[in-house]
Amino acid sequence: MEKRVRLRFAPSPTGGLHMGGVRTALFCYLFAKKHGGDFILRIEDTDQTRYVNGAEEYIINSLKWCGIEPNEGVGFGDGPHAPYRQSERKELGIYKKYADQLIAGGHAYYAFDTAEELDAMRKRLEAAKVVAPQYNAVTRQTMRNSLTLSEDEVKKLMDAGTPYVIRLKVPRNEEIRFHDIIRGWVVVNSSQVDDKVLLKSDGMPTYHLAHIVDDIEMQVSHAVRGEEWLPSAPSHILIYRYLGLEDKMPLLAHLPLILKPDGNGKLSKRDKSGLPMFPLNWYDERTGESYVGYRESGFFPEAFINMLALLGWNPGGNQEILSKEELINLFTFERVNKSGAKFDPEKTKWFNQQYLRKKTDAELVDLFMPIVKEKGITADAKFVEGVCRLVKEKAHFINEFWDNAVYFFTAPTSYDAEVLKKRLNEQTGNFIKEVVTAYSGLNSFTAVETEATLKATAEKCGLGAGQVMQLFRVSISGVGGGPALFEMIELLGKEEVLNRLQTFIKINSL
Ligand code: GLU
Repeated sequence: MEKRVRLRFAPSPTGGLHMGGVRTALFCYLFAKKHGGDFILRIEDTDQTRYVNGAEEYIINSLKWCGIEPNEGVGFGDGPHAPYRQSERKELGIYKKYADQLIAGGHAYYAFDTAEELDAMRKRLEAAKVVAPQYNAVTRQTMRNSLTLSEDEVKKLMDAGTPYVIRLKVPRNEEIRFHDIIRGWVVVNSSQVDDKVLLKSDGMPTYHLAHIVDDIEMQVSHAVRGEEWLPSAPSHILIYRYLGLEDKMPLLAHLPLILKPDGNGKLSKRDKSGLPMFPLNWYDERTGESYVGYRESGFFPEAFINMLALLGWNPGGNQEILSKEELINLFTFERVNKSGAKFDPEKTKWFNQQYLRKKTDAELVDLFMPIVKEKGITADAKFVEGVCRLVKEKAHFINEFWDNAVYFFTAPTSYDAEVLKKRLNEQTGNFIKEVVTAYSGLNSFTAVETEATLKATAEKCGLGAGQVMQLFRVSISGVGGGPALFEMIELLGKEEVLNRLQTFIKINSL
């Protein structure tokens, strides 16, 4: 029988979840949904020294905002494999029995070395010009562990309560082969693999042991994670093998890095491209650093995940704007690139703009009205809808609307000085006064009529459209640029436009 598709996102609560982590969660989610499977949130909190308050809640809220909600796991309802926090699982003794099994099989051993002894070993190896000093098949022979000490000595140390760790016994010079769905076959010689600690002296498992035990017990079908975990994969293969679980191990997929916009190295959470690196605002209480979120910067979650999905994956066509359903339908790990994906800030804003344009004017009113209210303005929904229609084309974000539309809500009392200097003179001043007369006589105040009337008035004053259009715009809005002029006039209405023209005449003593 085919294994049920079950993917887990397994972050450590050591800080805010940055966008690289969200992308991992997104790919897991898309694949799980495509195959009608499960998406699980497991919290890997075995390193208590790095635990950060609020991180777990932040992870949960981020997944919720992005609309990539797990159907099982911490914060999303207890499934059949509860608990989903590793610290709680440790209390149940889940990991210890696997470590004991490895010891019993001769594939793991106790190591009693103190921090000073480990440090001394590292220094010794560095002095001997060893490039990457590690605890391995060679160096363990010089250390204090159950492979070098006699059974009696080990027992004595244990009885005396001497702190120890359990290490994986990696064989010397053996070829380790494994398959990665994205990278294909990977072959590593075991001489490059260290004897990883599996169980720490506080009884907590390390990530290496814990995630394997959990992936097996939670029947995970695909283990998907960032490329930074690729070097540990050979140790993981050995652990599965020594536990006799190789046939049950999940398929592996290591996602490519997200690179800085210039392609020079890994994107950092302190990137200065001006765009957020985190889905939601994040305050790191350890360092006192604050990070701005995509949500708070005015991004739509749909735009954010659409952008993220295409960072390292391609759907195999030209279409870039893809709904969540489309992403689910198209997603495969085979189309995830091996090489790093460059983060593109401009493109990221473009995605938001595309989603903004897709909103109906009524949806935009719902989003913009709170901002209008916040500015202390009471405006009619129909009017705000008209404003949205006119300003949306140029904006990337809803929060740009206000700056581009402020003059719809408050009449200007100052005017673009450059335009006045260039365009305002006796003749054009008279023209503005003539427009007041002409507009006063209009019964219907549509864009078409106001434009025709304005042009006729200009002609009557012996002026070309080029000489008056920008000045006229400034007299209404105060600024030289903006949306379609006569549609703006129509929306403002006859009374308001006449008032504004009168104010312009008065302020400029025409
Ligand atoms: N806890 C690991 C992390 O935070 C998870 C790696 C994995 O998915 O196996 O990256």
